[in-house]
Amino acid sequence: MQLSKIGEFGLIKKLRTKCKNIPPEILTGIGDDAAVIKQGNKKILITTDMMIEGIHFDPAFTTFYQLGYKFLAVNISDIFAMGGKPKYFFISIGIPKNYTSEDIDELYSGILKIAGEFGVAIAGGDTCASKKGLILSGTLMGSADRIITRSGAKVGDGIFVTSSLGDSAMGLMLLKSQMSDVRSQKLKTRNSKSLLPLIKKHLMPEPIPLKNTSKVTSMIDISDGLLIDLSHICDESRVGAVIYKNKIPISGELADTAKFLRTDPVKFALNGGEDYALLFTAPPDIKTTAFKIGEIVKSGRFIIDENGRKKIFRSEGYEHFKRK
Ligand code: ADP
Ligand code: MG
Repeated sequence: MQLSKIGEFGLIKKLRTKCKNIPPEILTGIGDDAAVIKQGNKKILITTDMMIEGIHFDPAFTTFYQLGYKFLAVNISDIFAMGGKPKYFFISIGIPKNYTSEDIDELYSGILKIAGEFGVAIAGGDTCASKKGLILSGTLMGSADRIITRSGAKVGDGIFVTSSLGDSAMGLMLLKSQMSDVRSQKLKTRNSKSLLPLIKKHLMPEPIPLKNTSKVTSMIDISDGLLIDLSHICDESRVGAVIYKNKIPISGELADTAKFLRTDPVKFALNGGEDYALLFTAPPDIKTTAFKIGEIVKSGRFIIDENGRKKIFRSEGYEHFKRK
């Protein structure tokens, strides 16, 4: 079967069924942001993420320093999504012939910068040549006292996000159109104050942990887009969701830029991805600085628009093999 038919998530689902011999110490295996392994009284978290040239990044748009920073940031985000603390990082790289040792040095400066910020130590890795494009694969270990999975959402819970969404997707669009598009050149001269934060959010996302997780019932980080990642919570928790378009937090920079481009900023928030904000569910009346955007219901997935109209949402966002 063509991979474009089943997509990344269809393939992972198939692999998950195939890899079903799971020993009892694996408390959470395939299907969450990180695996949870019980070792005595401790719970160890392990997550792994790749970044591939031409798929995840374009060296024309990023410095190696920024790339290194983002590479560890996306792994840290998965540990935060489980309510954990990141600790040890393993870095495997495939390097094409035309790269220099200075490029890799710069990459590591970016990795070490964020590693220092979050108390992560580099504990190993692997180094190979690559025929085409830079390949990065990172494995991050962490720990947590209270694990939060994707599967604990309850009917009646509120749905929350920890920060504004869509900035990264707009940042990427601006980067892609930077060289050629006259409109974006105009935009650039008009209000670079709005553009730079959006581009920075895309190139160097800052993962932020949720401080108080005691009442949180489920959590995921928004890496592929709000609708896809909320769908993962619905799938794993066997529940439905209703979200309100006008409650989705949008930054001033995104609103401003979208207005100039005559486009809907919420579209970037719903489908964009790479926000690395946390999406969680908890009793609706909890005290939190996060934004409440909807409720968990028994079944169905709905979005209420600004006129109060209810529409079914599909899990649109980034999925490997499905994009041209
Ligand atoms: P995230 O976006 O949080 O990094 P993914 O969508 O990449 O999560 O992965 C979802 C789940 O599927 C995770 O538990 C991950 O470990 C697992 N997974 C992804 N690819 C594979 C694979 N090739 N083999 C086994 N498990 C996989
Ligand atoms: Mg994740």
